[in-house]
Amino acid sequence: MTDLTATPHAIPQSAPAVDPFGRAITYLRVSVTDRCDFRCVYCMSENMSFLPKADLLTLEELERLCGTFVRMGVRKLRLTGGEPLVRRNVMSLFRGLGRHIAEGNLDELTVTTNGSLLARYADELYDCGVRRLNVSLDTLDADKFAAITRWGRLDKVMEGLAAADRAGLKIKINMVALRGVNEDEFDRMIAWCGERGYDLVIIEVMPMGDIGEDRLDQYMPLSMVRSRIARSWTLDESDYTTGGPARYSTVRETGGRLGFITPLTHNFCESCNRVRLTCTGTLYMCLGQEDAADLRAVLRSSESDAPLEAAIHDAIARKPKGHDFIIDRRRGRVSVPRHMSVTGG
Ligand code: SAM
Ligand code: SF4
Repeated sequence: MTDLTATPHAIPQSAPAVDPFGRAITYLRVSVTDRCDFRCVYCMSENMSFLPKADLLTLEELERLCGTFVRMGVRKLRLTGGEPLVRRNVMSLFRGLGRHIAEGNLDELTVTTNGSLLARYADELYDCGVRRLNVSLDTLDADKFAAITRWGRLDKVMEGLAAADRAGLKIKINMVALRGVNEDEFDRMIAWCGERGYDLVIIEVMPMGDIGEDRLDQYMPLSMVRSRIARSWTLDESDYTTGGPARYSTVRETGGRLGFITPLTHNFCESCNRVRLTCTGTLYMCLGQEDAADLRAVLRSSESDAPLEAAIHDAIARKPKGHDFIIDRRRGRVSVPRHMSVTGG
């Protein structure tokens, strides 16, 4: 087992990454694959084409890139995708990154997963230093689950959650609010999460990628969700934060935390401390903008990390002040053509 209490021997820090608006970049999300064993209706079309495997960074390259970000001040790493746990041998990456925690250079290593493979990996994730994870679960109804995810099975996810509980992993459920699909389930989900000690975050559907369906059919403003929830539950304001974009309340009746991520109706950019790396080594400085930097070419051009650090500094110097998500209500057009599975949630 990885000894996370080992004496920290912090590695020398490189110049910290701070953007032109004075925001220190301390949070890196890494999409380790664009592939997935589900085809959620709001995320992917049924016939997705994926990147050729040859375009992907190797796990060793991803580890080297993450290590460079850690030296530049990143304190929190989240692995996502696609479905991160479907990438072959991904545990070797978790193990490598967990060493930064043991050495005192990283505060947290987390993962966002659909839960389908958690039963297999929960213990190992804990062993690698993961203590919290986000599991996406939009419904507790098996048929609805199958309809939303197209290829997923609710019982597998439930087995995964039970394994994660046993392993001692703290769980946060991500639920995307979908008009006409799960809008009758908020109360049930709050009660269920409350009983199990899971945090719940409700996410507004974001206009990312062509999914072959009309976005406006799915869109449901969280202001509406919140006022509906408030009919049955008492929501106390909370200043709890995980460094992410969610704004939290405490549900008085359950004592559980309830977060809302509202990219379209609430602007959270001013406190943004994160950047996103794709599995091909492209760095996006903002989830809602197209500007990106190719770190793969720089990474492969030199064994020294100095050019990589320079490229990261250059990229972060271009981090925009905020995003441009717009749902064009007349035409239902998508404002960011990239799928969420490319940059991760
Ligand atoms: N496969 C993993 C999962 O589902 O948790 C990780 C990747 S997934 C892209 C990350 C998160 O993004 C999930 O919670 C998912 O529900 C959310 N997501 C995907 N597409 C979205 C969209 N168009 N709008 C809002 N959230 C979305
Ligand atoms: Fe896969 Fe996650 Fe997208 Fe669903 S939301 S299709 S599980 S990447």
